[in-house]
Amino acid sequence: MSTIRVDKWLTTAGYGTRSEAKKLCRAGRVRLNGETVKDAAKHADPAVDVLELDGELVPYEPLVYFMMYKPPGYVSSTEDPRDPVVIELLNEEDIWRDVFPVGRLDKDAEGLLLLTNDGALAHRLLAPKRHVPKRYFVRVRGALGEDDVRAMAEGVELDDGYMAMPAELEILRSGAESEAVIQVYEGKYHQVKRMFASLGKRVTFLKRISMGPLSLDPALQPGEYRRLTEDEIEALR
Ligand code: URA
Repeated sequence: MSTIRVDKWLTTAGYGTRSEAKKLCRAGRVRLNGETVKDAAKHADPAVDVLELDGELVPYEPLVYFMMYKPPGYVSSTEDPRDPVVIELLNEEDIWRDVFPVGRLDKDAEGLLLLTNDGALAHRLLAPKRHVPKRYFVRVRGALGEDDVRAMAEGVELDDGYMAMPAELEILRSGAESEAVIQVYEGKYHQVKRMFASLGKRVTFLKRISMGPLSLDPALQPGEYRRLTEDEIEALR
């Protein structure tokens, strides 16, 4: 294996951001082959070198992050008895142990899906209390108007009596079939479809365009994916 910077090793192993890794080094808490390494830019080879933080071994199990344009027809899961799953869209070399989709998009829905083996990050993004915003482009049957914008802003009641959190609805086009972007702050089962259903509107097309700081790369076609950039990973942390 080729060498990598010590701060890269630490962040890859999940020990915070690059600047946090640098601080750990400067504080003298990191040792490489038994020697304190204060310079986070020092190179090491995970195949042969031993890195320790506070005396504990830092394993080199790279955390990987992919942004996928989930196509319709795929289940957001690692396996399914009937249908194809999004993991099947990954190339052989990207199928790292434990890579899974962060949150679900319905089988018929499409758009931004994050895949990673970083369980801690997934946990943070999905934690209901964090209210990570998610934006969806939708097509719905029937006209949309200001009363719908107000209803979504107040919080609509779903079919099971649950009061959805306030959401922002921006109408792009209203007609026999309308188009809009909706931003929601929670991720209940069929959340967006059920929110529109409560207004008597059926969603005919649903595409996630962003999740927290991450926006779907317009260069990606359905079924394609790419690694997140360092900046995108930092923004998610
Ligand atoms: N809301 C839905 O109804 N479906 C999805 O897949 C995502 C959000």
